[in-house]
Amino acid sequence: MTILELYILGKKEIENKNDVLFLFKSIFGFDRLGISLNSDVKVTNQQEELFLNKLEQLKNNIPVQYVVESVDFLDFNLKCGEGVFIPRKETEILVNEIVKKVDKNFNGNIVDLCSGTGSIGIGLKRRIEKTNVFCIEKSPKAFEYLEYNKKSLNVDINCILGDIFSEVNNFKDRMFDVIVSNPPYIRTSDIKNLDANIQYEPKLALDGGEDGLYFYRKILSTWKRKLKINGFFAFEIGYDQDEEMKGIVKNENLKHMDFVKDDNGYNRVCICS
Ligand code: GLN
Repeated sequence: MTILELYILGKKEIENKNDVLFLFKSIFGFDRLGISLNSDVKVTNQQEELFLNKLEQLKNNIPVQYVVESVDFLDFNLKCGEGVFIPRKETEILVNEIVKKVDKNFNGNIVDLCSGTGSIGIGLKRRIEKTNVFCIEKSPKAFEYLEYNKKSLNVDINCILGDIFSEVNNFKDRMFDVIVSNPPYIRTSDIKNLDANIQYEPKLALDGGEDGLYFYRKILSTWKRKLKINGFFAFEIGYDQDEEMKGIVKNENLKHMDFVKDDNGYNRVCICS
């Protein structure tokens, strides 16, 4: 088969044409232009088999990021796969907001709770080079991706495998300037209604408890004592959680709260202190 024949076959089988392009990029290194420039090139049997195998995975609703084992985030690329949450575009807003709020030469402590692939912690360390970043992740499988990404992107961050609510006790003398998290925030009863491809992601990384807000409450109440006087919390929240978030933040006696909107006009980032 030629590149073009494979491309036509892929497009026929898969509804989301971009996913087919992702496959081409990962197997052959070609984007759309590369495909047309190399349309007559014959693929090897091995490449064809790999392509068809991955096409089959896409047909079974496995997320394309798992199929190609990678995801773009900000200006870098993270390895991901089954067992770890796939970083989303919205989370870039959270990272950008923190970068905006601290000085470029900021050299304080940041902790990223529920780190997954390391999107937030790695993103922050790349942009604020002198800062001291701690990433805490509970799932051993997700932690493997975190460690892998730390090494492959050559970022000097501290990765801790553990539960965020017990690890807090291990920071005896350390206080934080920024406590950031994109925790699981889907209501337990909503998980079964999510798209078929999201069902492949770890429930642990999605499930925010009965009202979806379990982690915000518990992070604020357990980590508040670790926040420096001038420090702040930064959370990603669900598109419909801002009102409830106001109540939660108020309950913790925090004085300041701001939201940042996503491209659709929803409050998706909550900064509070
Ligand atoms: N913080 C990680 C991310 O945003 C993982 C989030 C999660 O596991 N819910 O990619």
